[in-house]
Amino acid sequence: MSTSSYLIRGATIGAGATTDILTHGNVITAMGSGLDAAGAVVIDAQGLVALPGLVDLHTHLREPGYEQSETVLTGTQAAAIGGFTAVFAMANTNPVADTAGVVEQVLALGEAAGYATVRPIGAVTQGLDGQRLAELGAMATSRAQVRVFSDDGKCVSDPLLMRRALEYVKSFDGVIAQHAQEPRLTENAQMNEGEVSARLGLTGWPAVAEESIIARDVLLAEHVKSRLHICHLSTAGSVEVIRWAKARGINVTAEVTPHHLLLDEERAETYDSRFKVNPPLRRREDVLALREALADGTIDIVATDHAPHPSESKECEWGAAAFGMVGLESALSVVQETMVETGLLNWDDVARVLSITPARIGSLSTHGQPLTVGAPAHITLVDPNTRQTFSRQRLAGRSLNSPFLGLELPGRVMATLHQGYATVLDGILIESDIVAAHAEAVRRG
Ligand SMILES: [Zn+2]
Repeated sequence: MSTSSYLIRGATIGAGATTDILTHGNVITAMGSGLDAAGAVVIDAQGLVALPGLVDLHTHLREPGYEQSETVLTGTQAAAIGGFTAVFAMANTNPVADTAGVVEQVLALGEAAGYATVRPIGAVTQGLDGQRLAELGAMATSRAQVRVFSDDGKCVSDPLLMRRALEYVKSFDGVIAQHAQEPRLTENAQMNEGEVSARLGLTGWPAVAEESIIARDVLLAEHVKSRLHICHLSTAGSVEVIRWAKARGINVTAEVTPHHLLLDEERAETYDSRFKVNPPLRRREDVLALREALADGTIDIVATDHAPHPSESKECEWGAAAFGMVGLESALSVVQETMVETGLLNWDDVARVLSITPARIGSLSTHGQPLTVGAPAHITLVDPNTRQTFSRQRLAGRSLNSPFLGLELPGRVMATLHQGYATVLDGILIESDIVAAHAEAVRRG
């Protein structure tokens, strides 16, 4: 397959100027007006916003072990449809990604599929058992070059293990991504603890279970001078702790999910298990505090926590249903709805919270660079001027557990270029054999 070249005509760069963008191979080779290039694939981008390819620091790809929910191929297809060119794959697979062998397997599956750059996240503890540290160094020096470690799905609740993990990753500038949830305070919990849980008779999940772990861990990170990342912040109190920690100079970053920016606990009243998630949907005032924190920089990034489940795990009563929602395909639309339409962020900010900063936190230097000549050709083109009902047709992964189905949302990803070739054009996924052939050509240089 020959090297691809694309001429993107008349795109608006973030919140700024309109320009043509020319790519050749995995590089942006020219920008300006009236560009011409024989043989290039022309993309009419009038009215479209161009962003650096989106980067998700928190994706569950489910492979190996849970391929009925998602595979690396289908998960990265969902990523491409959502405008993502890189995803960090969480470690709670089967076997758990706690050795060099498993993270290299996930890396290789991502390379072969070609829809997005897959960076494996390594487990903090062996088998996510919370007892013994995993082989962090071996994963870091493996071909997967793991820099982000997380027991996500579970909290590293033992403070001594958390301290050791934070100390260990300093030598290679790694980061521990904590799922902040004190397990003793959340036993059998089903939804946010408050008036609604009391009314519904469901076991509550107190905000303090999240906030107390964050408070402990920012102090541990300060004590050992290491780098901490907090997954899926969900409460106003967590925002206050992070704000305090940052003011103190502690090296902590935080993420919020699209669903916590839009949805609140009232959704549980339908007992529709699509709204069952960990951490749970919280109060309206929490939702508004999270938006404000993302706008003022207290929260650094948006990450999807894309968590696919097969229908048999979700289409059952609330108490028996699995926790989690898919989110890659809808993330940009939800961020536009909650942050751009409300005037809290502009499109340059969106590039920052969905591409530039997540790539930096994950030490992924090949992604998250502003669109300039010489930058890698990871490009997302979004049409912000459309509004439609979010439907099953927008889902490209293997699972359908989206809480956004049936909601009217703005924006649509029209094209995604990953390392200089299209994975999505005209809003449609490019076929897997074509994408795989392009990916192989890039690998061979
Ligand atoms: Zn989690």
